[in-house]
Amino acid sequence: EPVLLWLRRDLRVGDNPALAAAAKTGRPVIPVVIRPAPDDIGGASAWWRGRSLRALRTSLRKLGSDVVLRTGEPLSILTGLAAETSAVEVHFNRTLEPEATKTDIALLSSMPKHGAIAVDHPANRLHEPWRLKTGTGGSFKVFTPFWRRLAESYRPPAALPTPRKLRAPDAWPESEAIEKWQVTASWSTGFAAEWKPGEAGAAARLTHLLDIVPQYSETRDRPDWEGTSRLSPHLAWGEISVHDIWRRLGERHGEAALPFLRQLGWRDFNSHLLYHFPKLPKEAWAAKFRGFPFLPHGKGLQAWQRGLTGYPIVDAGMRQLWATGWMHNRVRMIAASFLVKDQLIDWRRGEAWFWDTLVDADRAQNAGNWQWVAGSGADAAPYFRIFNPVTQSRKFDPEGAYIRRWVPELAMLDTKAIHAPWEAAPLDLDAAGIVLGKNYPQPILAHDEARQRALAAYEKIR
Ligand code: FAD
Repeated sequence: EPVLLWLRRDLRVGDNPALAAAAKTGRPVIPVVIRPAPDDIGGASAWWRGRSLRALRTSLRKLGSDVVLRTGEPLSILTGLAAETSAVEVHFNRTLEPEATKTDIALLSSMPKHGAIAVDHPANRLHEPWRLKTGTGGSFKVFTPFWRRLAESYRPPAALPTPRKLRAPDAWPESEAIEKWQVTASWSTGFAAEWKPGEAGAAARLTHLLDIVPQYSETRDRPDWEGTSRLSPHLAWGEISVHDIWRRLGERHGEAALPFLRQLGWRDFNSHLLYHFPKLPKEAWAAKFRGFPFLPHGKGLQAWQRGLTGYPIVDAGMRQLWATGWMHNRVRMIAASFLVKDQLIDWRRGEAWFWDTLVDADRAQNAGNWQWVAGSGADAAPYFRIFNPVTQSRKFDPEGAYIRRWVPELAMLDTKAIHAPWEAAPLDLDAAGIVLGKNYPQPILAHDEARQRALAAYEKIR
């Protein structure tokens, strides 16, 4: 009698608790991936998932196994499969997402009625959100003490053995064709040049990270450099274990890796917040922000989505996002601030756009970070600290190389003018072939006025 291995955002063979436990039973293992109907992920993530599954299937086949793909409601598919195959156990890793957790609980309690037991394993996080408590026994709401406690108490567990072989069942249950899970929409044509979904792609990013990590504090804020790991989509799909990252960086760099590991701490912190406040993607964490006077979104939302706001750094970021499914963190903050503060558009509009277009889209990270920028999150940026898109651009893209790459209309403009082309001398614009309002937009708003308007809106809820 076999065991089922239900994989979700843990599409890897190495250091995978559920997979290692399933292998350890010595029984035949049936890996299953279920696509909910309707699907609950965005377009860019669906592109990633299709590619990642191909890589996973190749790895599983090397172990003598395979993967069964099904579409529908997870609980009924799993109980159906258990009945069909006479499976006696179902192993899975938790995801910590509120909807998924409901399914997990239902699975744990209903499987015995079908003659099998369900066994859950830790999510791909440094800590489990119910384990880490404040001095008074509550959940953390501020990052720094959270991180301090985590860094003090965390020791990476020993690496789990990667099985050399997974026993196959006598007969494989029916699977949907993997081709049906592949997304090849026109907007995603640039993704393949940028990314290699799957465990091998994640390992390659980790190798790069091992080289750059000592300089991470200096390089991480520069969108014009390859100064970050770009591990986020691999982490979002669980193609690499966080414990593995910690172990490898620690062995090689010791304490020098801490500024980077702290970012993994933010990932845990947002998951911690979502776990303790499941409404995080839908509702302001801080109660006073729940009645914030956002404006109805008009053409400004579309200009932002298309990278046509007239603010070069914002446009560069939004176009990088569209073309590659990823945007540099510094630019995400600038672009998000431009939407929620300069335009006074509800952060949930931005969250939804990112959800659809990011290859690393993750409920907790996306919502947590949007709320951080909007000022409404736990331990958020203070509302009145409003990003100035021009100053930020001059500081973090000093030569304008990032802008030139993503907003080619402006490529010929000199560095002094590129961050705010509306301030450029007419002769310089001429020489660069730019006619504002024609081949590059006039700014859709004036930042200084928008800033005052945002502060006035904030006064209403303070
Ligand atoms: P690195 O700098 O190499 O960091 C390493 C890892 O640490 C990342 O892969 C990520 O897992 C984690 N990390 C880094 N910064 C953050 C952060 N601010 N919050 C949480 N985790 C972090 N990240 C997502 O993974 N998914 C999202 O949906 C997402 N939405 C965001 C929305 C907004 C408005 C903003 C401002 C940020 C968002 N981020 C999100 C966080 C961050 O921008 C990305 O994690 C980061 O840019 C990924 O690139 P990297 O892997 O090269 O990062």
